[in-house]
Amino acid sequence: MIRTENLTKVYNGKAAVDGLDLEVGEGDIFGFLGPNGAGKSTTILMLTGMIEPTGGRCLVDGIEVAKDPLKVKEIIGYLPEDVGFYGNMTGEENLDYFARFYGMDARKRKERIAELLELVHLDGVAQKAGEYSRGMKQRLGLAQALINDPKVLFLDEPTANLDPEGVREYRELVLALAGEGKTVFVSSHILSEVRAVCRTVGLLAKGKLVAQGTLDEVARTLAPSDGDAVRIVVETREHLPALEDPEIVAVERNGNRAVFLAKTDIRDRLAASLFSQGVHVREMRIEEPDIEDVFMAIYRR
Ligand code: ADP
Repeated sequence: MIRTENLTKVYNGKAAVDGLDLEVGEGDIFGFLGPNGAGKSTTILMLTGMIEPTGGRCLVDGIEVAKDPLKVKEIIGYLPEDVGFYGNMTGEENLDYFARFYGMDARKRKERIAELLELVHLDGVAQKAGEYSRGMKQRLGLAQALINDPKVLFLDEPTANLDPEGVREYRELVLALAGEGKTVFVSSHILSEVRAVCRTVGLLAKGKLVAQGTLDEVARTLAPSDGDAVRIVVETREHLPALEDPEIVAVERNGNRAVFLAKTDIRDRLAASLFSQGVHVREMRIEEPDIEDVFMAIYRR
């Protein structure tokens, strides 16, 4: 449903997005993950036809965005990072103003707007948008992004201004929309946010795609290349003594806890060795690569 081919945007001689090849399937909830400044917003601006790529191209539902931006706009919804509204109009009036761009007649607009305000829990709010809290603006933004019943939804950091209740409602809404067959593209710099709703992710760093797939696949791809080494976590009641074993490649020790990087699963030998030294083992397990660690490592880089 969404595809980019060698998509590139250069600002002042520096690539904000650098040769991006992305693929998002229909009905997927795709998490576009990366630290601030990685190029997420720039990518979304190109995908939504707001700016033109310096190189490469992007397609939404088979339509090349730069060639036919208006056609693309008909089938997409977009929630920008900093959504803006007319402050002296109510939420309903703002949505109505926006809906007119899609050529809906008055009755259709009224119906659709009522439906959407209920969906984002802003029905019955009479305040002008200028008096809205940031969270309310975000909700209104989501309603605006949905006004044309889009096939594809682009959400740029959608939970940034939401309180926990708003975040919960947002997650339910995104899952429901994907359940209707819509494709959702969500950018975020917060791993937990992406983990909560996304089926597949793309990890962006300095304009480049570092990995793409399910979170587990991404974690596996990016796990420090230990060959086929096994990470064994050991926790003991007493201070952990130094352990010698030809299979051990590296050790990170921290008081009662240690992570052994070993060529093979030597848990039995480690346990026996600790037992012979009178050390009580509280826990010993193989640790799978954790996306959290992987992600932090990329942030630090
Ligand atoms: P993200 O959304 O991941 O935080 P952005 O896409 O906003 O990242 O920014 C990527 C890089 O491109 C940053 O270094 C940013 O400073 C730069 N950039 C973004 N927009 C512009 C612009 N209009 N002019 C110049 N540089 C820009």
